[in-house]
Amino acid sequence: MDVARRDLILSAAALALSPRAFAADRPNRPLGYAIVGLGYYGQQIIIPQFANCQHSRLAAVVSGDPAKAKRVAAEHGLPARSIYSYANFDTIRDNPDVDIVYVCLPNSLHAEYTIRAAKAGKHVMCEKPMATSVAECEAMIAACKAADRKLMIGYRSHFEPFNLEAMRLARAGEAGKIRYVRSEHGFVQGDPSAWRLKKSLSGGGSLMDMGVYSLQAARYMTGEEPVAVTARESTDRSDPRFTEVEDIIDWTLEFPSGAIASCQSMYSANQNHILLMGDKGRIELEPATRYEGNRMWLGRDGREREVTAPPGPGKTQFAGQLDHLVQCVRTGREPIVSGEEGLRDMRIVEAIYRSAREGRTIRLDGRA
Ligand code: NAD
Repeated sequence: MDVARRDLILSAAALALSPRAFAADRPNRPLGYAIVGLGYYGQQIIIPQFANCQHSRLAAVVSGDPAKAKRVAAEHGLPARSIYSYANFDTIRDNPDVDIVYVCLPNSLHAEYTIRAAKAGKHVMCEKPMATSVAECEAMIAACKAADRKLMIGYRSHFEPFNLEAMRLARAGEAGKIRYVRSEHGFVQGDPSAWRLKKSLSGGGSLMDMGVYSLQAARYMTGEEPVAVTARESTDRSDPRFTEVEDIIDWTLEFPSGAIASCQSMYSANQNHILLMGDKGRIELEPATRYEGNRMWLGRDGREREVTAPPGPGKTQFAGQLDHLVQCVRTGREPIVSGEEGLRDMRIVEAIYRSAREGRTIRLDGRA
């Protein structure tokens, strides 16, 4: 066999084995997701959303509960070979039906499963918060980079029509020069045994879980990166729910333009709100980041106007999110909410905790 022909055959064989080539091979085939963690979000919210997707499909499930995994697989027509446990998860590398692993586990397991997925040659969608520390986020980004795989964080607000319209209007100057953003996110956490209240599994309290929505809102509504943060925690430590993690935490972010964001998260009230105030008007969303039923108003010259039915990128925010990563895998572009975006938030989250602990403003721009 001549050398050129041998090289052609070898490179064709390598191409056939590479997951990227597999995707490129049949450009319009929906890519397969493996859902890791069949809890509330993975099983009840994400899995049903594949019916709304154009480019994504359910290809496997990963669970510690074999009976549940078998039942969910049967409900969605998955073969037995597409069911994994946490112990044999790494063998997912041999499953060509799985292109992307979606990590829907407690926060402290995000890093481990993202890194294992990347090492198995799979792209990763990881739920928020990205992880429980900056160090974990950096390790996740490095693992995905080393494996040449995409990493996206499940920040669904970036695919939610009202939030997208609010960002567009804010950038277009609808409210004038942005002076102030306020955002509060919380719910009543009633179950003292919930993993969200165990620091080793959650990494922290309401800030890790709901505060990331307020923090994200402050960043995407202003379009700026904060330069300083001042935080204060308020937790009733005699409440059996809050022996390990915080209940309420408030923080103020200062932005280079002079804009201020006043944010809050809590486990003792239902709150879901974003407000932007500029020198010409206001943009308000309430509820702001729910799965559905979000609402938005524009205020100008003392008059309020409700914005209804802005267009979104998918049938639902979840479908838009799932299909976005597929399109990124196909085209090679970076997800709009990449691992770096999750890392930026985690740097601020660590500074918020530090500010609350030390009772002082923490600079985020390296200045003393
Ligand atoms: P959940 O408790 O309902 O589900 C967690 C799953 O992880 C369960 O199936 C559980 O069995 C499994 N698990 C594996 N190892 C575990 C361990 N050591 N301890 C406890 N559970 C373990 O939680 P959830 O509400 O589905 O949250 C999962 C992730 O999804 C979290 O990171 C959360 O922040 C995120 N989430 C995101 C949204 C969103 O809107 N983007 C909404 C809800 C949850």
